[in-house]
Amino acid sequence: AETSLAALVLRAAKFASQRHAPQRRKDPQQTPYINHPLAVACVLADEAGVSDPAVLQAALLHDTVEDTPTSLAEIERFFGADVRLYVAQCSDDTSLPKADRKRLQIETAPTKSDGAKLVKLADKIDNLRDLQRTPPVGWTLSRVQEYFAWAKRVTDGCAGVSPAMDSILAGIYAGEFEYE
Ligand code: NDP
Ligand code: ZN
Repeated sequence: AETSLAALVLRAAKFASQRHAPQRRKDPQQTPYINHPLAVACVLADEAGVSDPAVLQAALLHDTVEDTPTSLAEIERFFGADVRLYVAQCSDDTSLPKADRKRLQIETAPTKSDGAKLVKLADKIDNLRDLQRTPPVGWTLSRVQEYFAWAKRVTDGCAGVSPAMDSILAGIYAGEFEYE
């Protein structure tokens, strides 16, 4: 039988949940890490109206290569070449110093595929919402503000692929707090 789109997306959710299983977010509650990729995929599906399964799969998988022992070859084998490209373009080179990684995210944002830009916009939306809700343990206000300023430079470089997410980000940078 033909594989349903729901099955393709759920396979990516299951794979990500297995790979991220030992990890926690940096909030005081140490929320399970998988909540973040799930929230990023929901921003795309619910708020940005994205229905391309490869983009939703890439959202679910976007931190597996950077943050877990997962290779791009595995991503391609299980999820195909498009998902591999989007995940590759959303992964920092972890061999570089942190400052270089942050600078490269700004410089390379405009060169990325539309699929990767969509995932990056949703990723920053969820991280900025997390920072508003539950900042990482030990972060000062100025560190949070620096993160917002840096994220804006990255998302400005990804702008134009989703009017809905451009508008959500404009609200976040204007200091509109969102409540659950
Ligand atoms: P990190 O990259 O270390 O942390 C932010 C990342 O953590 C997010 O992008 C997100 O990435 C992940 N994350 C996990 N949990 C949360 C959460 N609850 N809320 C938000 N994000 C979460 O921090 P920085 O971006 O600040 O990078 C380090 C830089 O900070 C260095 O360049 C250094 O110069 C600077 N620095 C500044 C300090 C200051 O006081 N101003 C102090 C120390 C460093 P993901 O999507 O991958 O999960
Ligand atoms: Zn992320």
